[in-house]
Amino acid sequence: MKTIIALGSNMGDRRKYLEDAITEIGKRIGEVTARSQIMETKAYGYTEQDDFLNMAIAVETEMEAHDLLHELNAIEAELGRVRTIHWGPRTIDLDIIYYGDRLIDDEELHVPHIDLHNRDFVLVPVAEIAGEIFDVRRGKTVAELLAALQDHNMEEVKQ
Ligand code: ATP
Ligand code: CA
Ligand code: CA
Repeated sequence: MKTIIALGSNMGDRRKYLEDAITEIGKRIGEVTARSQIMETKAYGYTEQDDFLNMAIAVETEMEAHDLLHELNAIEAELGRVRTIHWGPRTIDLDIIYYGDRLIDDEELHVPHIDLHNRDFVLVPVAEIAGEIFDVRRGKTVAELLAALQDHNMEEVKQ
């Protein structure tokens, strides 16, 4: 299955956390077949914190979606992530954005990611590596979702 994973870091050596996470994902989850550029972004939600580095990767994996989530959580923990404030500072955040074209909604997991259409720091890197993906939750491709978000942001600036 092709899965798209979004990575974010805003503590310590942010670039190294991204690289270490990708290395572990390659060893434990599957082959990393594409990686986006790294972009620097202002924090979202809880804004009193340092800027993030964000990127996205495509991974070919045999793992089932929930096992994949648990493995990502284990990698986050090993790379020193402590869960304190929701949306607070973190060494590394690993979110499943897409898992093939599957729609999953249960207590643990929402895939496609529930809020990705509002986040340029997710859509820009995902569009770079997989703009053709059709988002079954929104009925649009990633490229279309990104264009819609950019139009929306332009309107906010105009007002
Ligand atoms: P957000 O999900 O809004 O980006 P966050 O990444 O800061 O917020 P976390 O504290 O990292 O949130 O995760 C909270 C919970 O979200 C996790 O324990 C996990 O069970 C759940 N979750 C639901 N859907 C996903 C997904 N697609 N990828 C990763 N975690 C998910
Ligand atoms: Ca997240
Ligand atoms: Ca997360």
